[in-house]
Amino acid sequence: MAEKSAAKKQSCAQKSRKATTKKKKQYDVSFYHDWCKACGICMAFCPQKIIQADKNGKPAISEMEKCVGCRFCEIHCPDFAITVSERKRNRRQNDV
Ligand code: SF4
Ligand code: SF4
Repeated sequence: MAEKSAAKKQSCAQKSRKATTKKKKQYDVSFYHDWCKACGICMAFCPQKIIQADKNGKPAISEMEKCVGCRFCEIHCPDFAITVSERKRNRRQNDV
């Protein structure tokens, strides 16, 4: 019984260690400024408040690492001027 409990505790510890070492996903947000009419919708909808207007009123990301990839900006842009994509980590040549 005690052995079972110890094994269970070890398994839980391994799981929590795995969870803490898991890397956070990162995203890239691109704007097609030629299509953008500077309406400000994307700036209003971003839950992280990381889209700000540049000197022409067009959107620019201030802190890309804070993007959570929710795609609210992409979905709400009336001019399809935003693309959100997950940043791929560099893979080694022999990885499958
Ligand atoms: S994907 Fe979400 S968090 Fe990232 S910039 Fe767009 S609205 Fe903001
Ligand atoms: S929602 Fe689209 S059109 Fe409006 S400011 Fe943002 S990128 Fe430009």
